[in-house]
Amino acid sequence: MTDLLTGPDTVAQERRLVTELPGPRSRELAARRAGAVTSAVGSVLPVYVERGSGGVVVDVDGNSFIDLGSGIAVTNVGHAAPEVVAAVQAQVAAFTHTCFMVGPYEGYVAVAEELNRLTPGDHEKRSALFNTGAEAVENAVKVARVATGRSAVVVFDHAYHGRTNLTMALTAKNMPYKHGFGPFAGEVYRVPMSYPFRDEAGMTGEQAAARAFDLIETQIGAANVAAVLIEPIQGEGGFVVPAPGFLPALTDWCRRSGAVFIADEVQTGFCRTGAWFASEHEQVVPDLIATAKGIAGGMPLAGVTGRAELMDAVHTGGLGGTYGGNPVACAAALATIRTMREHDLNAAARAIEATMLPRLHALAERTGVVGDVRGRGAMLAVELVEPGTTKPDAALTNAISKACHAEGVITLTAGTHSNVLRFLPPLVIGQDLLTEGLDVLDAVFDAHAGK
Ligand SMILES: *Cc1c(COP(=O)(O)O)cnc(C)c1O
Repeated sequence: MTDLLTGPDTVAQERRLVTELPGPRSRELAARRAGAVTSAVGSVLPVYVERGSGGVVVDVDGNSFIDLGSGIAVTNVGHAAPEVVAAVQAQVAAFTHTCFMVGPYEGYVAVAEELNRLTPGDHEKRSALFNTGAEAVENAVKVARVATGRSAVVVFDHAYHGRTNLTMALTAKNMPYKHGFGPFAGEVYRVPMSYPFRDEAGMTGEQAAARAFDLIETQIGAANVAAVLIEPIQGEGGFVVPAPGFLPALTDWCRRSGAVFIADEVQTGFCRTGAWFASEHEQVVPDLIATAKGIAGGMPLAGVTGRAELMDAVHTGGLGGTYGGNPVACAAALATIRTMREHDLNAAARAIEATMLPRLHALAERTGVVGDVRGRGAMLAVELVEPGTTKPDAALTNAISKACHAEGVITLTAGTHSNVLRFLPPLVIGQDLLTEGLDVLDAVFDAHAGK
């Protein structure tokens, strides 16, 4: 994949620590930050970033990190992907903003065309563009409510849909996302997720869906449900992959009940799971699909794509926003999608899975602290538990993630119980770099949980 990385400013694809961490310049910036930035915003890494390229991030002291996080599944095409850089530079020089609701431009239309083409299903589709994942999810709910004339929204345990008022209500986890921020939007109902590692052994996807339908029908009433909203693989909730059959059962129920099936593919989208969208793994065709994160190589862009009759049910002027579908972000998205297509990043994600999964399973076997290995493509995770139990071990998860950072590997955690170590490498990461990252992970696990 290194052919992707040959831009003029290419940074060596290597892990290289040249100072203690954080280094002196990062420490200086941390001190400035403490006096300027609210402590309400946290950061995973103790270092400050100066540049990135492909699969590495370089800090202000010259330390180079292997990135297994992609800025939370955003830089799927790699940091500073050459085609994206060129497209952004050209667009910035042409014009940066008109507001699509004032002066429309081709880039927005072209991104909508791509979304309509790439998302599952060959029905007639329309798209609208926004800035963030939360905004996309919120607008999908607006569309579903108008189109159905109903108000209830069904969401799942462990769900994460964002931090705005409505999306906080849709999100499951209290701390840190919701704590103290209520009251939350109404008409949001939570039902159990299919979570094979924690469900009763052998529970099928259909059985898990039936458990949800029983609650929906008795506590909400099918006729009141505007939408069922789900991440096909949960992101912040811990990379929970529902049992096979769960997602198709939900879509069937929606068809029967006149509810809109919304897939939140903000984290799973754009080649992350080895397909353009994770819904494809079970031939699920969402009525509406929310996208963001990986769509534009790091530029803020989000979309809602769906059945034309649903999207067009909203009155003209009902959807929009000052920056939604910004021309620079659209140029980045078009270059990102082109890069994904030309370099077959779905295949790259599957290759990452083929490298990582056996290593993660071996790790689980060796250390005894991994209760579950799961995920798809380049969206993989291990759930850490106290040996021989299913009791979450958040402290160990945090310690291991921090130790990886100290060794120059960027890892992220997730999970309702903060006991999931998740991996989201840029899809262009070189095989050697990925292997080195996994070697570091092995050593860190052995130091913290060796037997
Ligand atoms: C990140 C995320 C969101 C929110 O996206 P923002 O751009 O942070 O608002 C929504 N849904 C899922 C599944 C996400 O992973």
